[in-house]
Amino acid sequence: MIDYRSDTVTQPTPQMIEAMSKAPVGDDVYGEDPTIKELEQYAADLFGMENALFCPSGTMTNQIAIKAHTTPGKEVICHEWAHIYNYEGGGVAFNSGCQVRPISSNDGKFKAVDVEARIQSNTDIHAAPTALISVENTVNKAGGTVWSTDEVKPITRVGQIHNIPLHLDGARLFNALEAVGETPADYGKLFNSISICLSKGLGAPVGSLLLGSDQFITRARRIRKVMGGGMRQAGIIAAGGLYALKNNIDRLREDRENAIKIYEAVKESAICKSVEKPQTNIVLFEPTDDKPLNAVLTEMEKYGIKASPMGSKIRMVTHLNHSHEEIVRTCDILRSL
Ligand SMILES: *Cc1c(COP(=O)(O)O)cnc(C)c1O
Repeated sequence: MIDYRSDTVTQPTPQMIEAMSKAPVGDDVYGEDPTIKELEQYAADLFGMENALFCPSGTMTNQIAIKAHTTPGKEVICHEWAHIYNYEGGGVAFNSGCQVRPISSNDGKFKAVDVEARIQSNTDIHAAPTALISVENTVNKAGGTVWSTDEVKPITRVGQIHNIPLHLDGARLFNALEAVGETPADYGKLFNSISICLSKGLGAPVGSLLLGSDQFITRARRIRKVMGGGMRQAGIIAAGGLYALKNNIDRLREDRENAIKIYEAVKESAICKSVEKPQTNIVLFEPTDDKPLNAVLTEMEKYGIKASPMGSKIRMVTHLNHSHEEIVRTCDILRSL
């Protein structure tokens, strides 16, 4: 089976396992795990932010950030396709007692005027005041679409004018940076908090990082403990993340190029009704009307290709475990279906 369901399915490489097996560890709840400290410092420096917090998942980093920025009865502005709104189990309400005010568009992105139009003030007693603006880059549900920093800057300005903090769900931010040739430091200046995943395209087995100011991370560390995310000798897994940040960023270009090859094959395949050229490592296509979506997925599996449903579309995600030979074979199979 060649697995394209997600870039979360990757297996650690022997070099990564080697780094993990040698990691010095300690009790991180006591602040004594040197590998976790090194990872948090490395990531904070990369983004030019003051501090970072290692967490078990991207859902947790997002949810901690939302909790840290808000109080109950407030509102979070984000896109209607946002992961925080669609795929985190209602966590905005469950953990923070807040509601979402979504923005719609066909690429998962929005403009400063869209945010401006949805900001609610503290003065109207009928309204839930806006406490947070959240941006996702790349936008998963839109098929890995990319924001450039020029598109983000006006959103940051709106946040600053209204004194509303900005959070970035950057689960696949490094894929976005590769596609537009920007740097993490460009992003550190634009957001109050940033979440990045180590267990997606970067290929680590576990973990995400939350980045922000010293004051914010102190608050986040407390919330992580309350949520049950205080880990002990987790340097073992942090070492995989550190290895990933140091070694697996530059190769994300390969994932994008592989996604383009798959897109070209899908476009010529009888199972595809429509598909757009991928901006990063996600190919999202509308399956043919001839068969139900599940039948298309089953047919793909019969030939050794695993993909996943996303709404009415089929999603294929490329990652570091795909060999050149597997990509070629996948394209041949897709063209023949
Ligand atoms: C995967 C993902 C997350 C976090 O997911 P976890 O599985 O909890 O690590 C957050 N946001 C986006 C956009 C994602 O794709």
